[in-house]
Amino acid sequence: MKPDKPALNRISVLLVDDDEDDYVITRDILKDVRGTEYALERTSSFDTALAMAAAQDFDVYLLDYRLGIRTGVDLLKGILLERPHAPVILLTGQNDDTVDVLAMNEGASDFLVKGEITPPLLERSIRYAIKHASMAKALHEQAIHDGLTQLYNRRAMERFLDEEENRFRRHGTPYAVLLIDLDNFKAVNDTHGHQTGDDVLRHVARLLKEMARESDRAARYGGEEFAVIAPQSTAKEVFAFAERYRQAVCGEAFPLSSGESGAASIRLSVSIGIADCPGNGHTWPEVVHAADQALYEAKDRGRNQTILSEIPFAAPASTGEPLASQTDGGMQ
Ligand code: GH3
Ligand code: MG
Ligand code: MG
Repeated sequence: MKPDKPALNRISVLLVDDDEDDYVITRDILKDVRGTEYALERTSSFDTALAMAAAQDFDVYLLDYRLGIRTGVDLLKGILLERPHAPVILLTGQNDDTVDVLAMNEGASDFLVKGEITPPLLERSIRYAIKHASMAKALHEQAIHDGLTQLYNRRAMERFLDEEENRFRRHGTPYAVLLIDLDNFKAVNDTHGHQTGDDVLRHVARLLKEMARESDRAARYGGEEFAVIAPQSTAKEVFAFAERYRQAVCGEAFPLSSGESGAASIRLSVSIGIADCPGNGHTWPEVVHAADQALYEAKDRGRNQTILSEIPFAAPASTGEPLASQTDGGMQ
């Protein structure tokens, strides 16, 4: 029995070709493919193609190699900058090994010679290109996420910090970094086991993701340490968010599974340090170091509190005491 092909029944295609006759030929080849419908959009302009790729995530891109003074390889690079895993197939008038290798090295999915293209060949090339691109995308997602919590991992966090640092250098845009550490987490593991510890990590990570703004990047920075990178924000601006999160963590006891003896729930709390660029440094290691120092101070002052780098959290008006005196964290 023949294995079924994956269902790719309506595929959006952006065809970039400045030759009218070639466009008609490619369009007719796609029309002759049986079992698959192609929603074809075409432009002859390099810049329009880039704008269209930015506006719409096409399933596949077919690029003519000769595009006026620029080439399909130049366009390929532009499209991949915008959409890193896009399936892009180069079409050329003549077979040229140099262009073939160049296209491959720049990330093209395939390289087809125009006169040799048949409907089955093009259908297969598109299908493989789409499959490989989706596999590459899935692998990339895996590489930048933490397996336990599904937050970004440390490598991704450092890449985001690089991006923020570059944005600051070019445009002077500020950003803030929050470092969050679970209080007395070792005791959770020691008392309730590693499995429950993992459940707690997933719980606080989910809460962080739910509460953060869409533009914030939440990452698992270390074992029981999380980080949030808040673009276009100062430390003071993200303080309210940090406090809302801290209160959400300590405000609700974490329920234990019914099988466990003893306490039915665990009280959790977090300590948070905040710093920003440019207030606490111009390079991201300086900013992260400042946030780490603030976090250390939050621990030192008794945990379950948020400290702005060099600006200690103001005491609540009612007690005149810093939040360090709060005792609603820890084990129950
Ligand atoms: P503090 O309030 O000073 O932060 O105390 P703490 O107990 O939270 O900090 P400590 O650094 O002493 O302990 C962190 C613990 O986190 C120890 C380690 O076993 C645990 N941990 C790190 N990664 C994981 C993980 O993936 N799963 C579980 N269950 N525990 C982890
Ligand atoms: Mg801890
Ligand atoms: Mg820690």
